[in-house]
Amino acid sequence: MIRSLLFIAATALVACASPVRAQAAQRIALTLDDGPHLSATPRLSPQARNEALLAAIRKHQVQAALFVTCGNGADRPEGLALVKAWSDAGQLLGNHTMTHPDLNSPQVSLEQYQDEIQRCQQILEGLPGLQRWFRFTFLREGKPEAKRDGMRAWMKAQGWRNAYVSLDTSDWRLNEFLEARLKADPKAEVSDIRQAYLDHLWQRAQAYQALSRRLQGRDIAQVLLTHHNLLNALFLDDVIGMFKAKGWQFISPAEAFEDPVYQLQPISPVAGQSLLLSMARSLGLGRFEGWERLVDDGDHEIERLGPPAAPH
Ligand SMILES: [Zn+2]
Repeated sequence: MIRSLLFIAATALVACASPVRAQAAQRIALTLDDGPHLSATPRLSPQARNEALLAAIRKHQVQAALFVTCGNGADRPEGLALVKAWSDAGQLLGNHTMTHPDLNSPQVSLEQYQDEIQRCQQILEGLPGLQRWFRFTFLREGKPEAKRDGMRAWMKAQGWRNAYVSLDTSDWRLNEFLEARLKADPKAEVSDIRQAYLDHLWQRAQAYQALSRRLQGRDIAQVLLTHHNLLNALFLDDVIGMFKAKGWQFISPAEAFEDPVYQLQPISPVAGQSLLLSMARSLGLGRFEGWERLVDDGDHEIERLGPPAAPH
């Protein structure tokens, strides 16, 4: 009798615990690539863009990771000062090469690519927050397979982590659109671009959450890709606010990468893009429902904006 009561109690505990687990907040980590840029854009100076990004991150008390492309500015004192502002603010730093070459290009050798990583790392060495994390440029892990495997072996031997993205976005496309509009008219209205960006991110977020459930049977910790650009300087506050309002919980990229999914190495011959998309393709699921919304030309929210001229 006692035994069966215990059994019932244990069953009740499990029954109570399950819904709680299912309702746990979706976790998301923020990463920004390609920064800091010293190039000129409308509206904000390079310093003002950098500060606007950090202000949004500080306001929401988020720890993000900046993946530095050293040739965009960090190789000069004024650019390195911008990187230092990130590490001084307790943010994490990763490596995104010197000049952003494409490993899949036949013109780029494995040795050249590795040299790009090492040279950028030398510039960042000693900064607090610097991790041995590498973010592949264009999220391309190398083609043909010998290149991909060569990078994987080298990274393992050198202690690098592949800083995967799971939640890939086309924020760079919207940034080009935003800059084109503001170059034509620095005072142009941009609220429609802001809304398209938020809609785009939420559509991708839901799609990658669904793909995670399909491939892993659970909600993995998502790693969001954005860029150090004018778009996010203007709207990152809104982006973080939107995810929070939807009930998503920001965690540090360091915590996200502890999710065992980030130890996987998809065997797809064209590994790259979102880790989840690579996994789907490795499993022969390249054409699952909604896949076309996860590639750059499937962004209806962006297409709807039409040409960059301001709305009337
Ligand atoms: Zn990049």
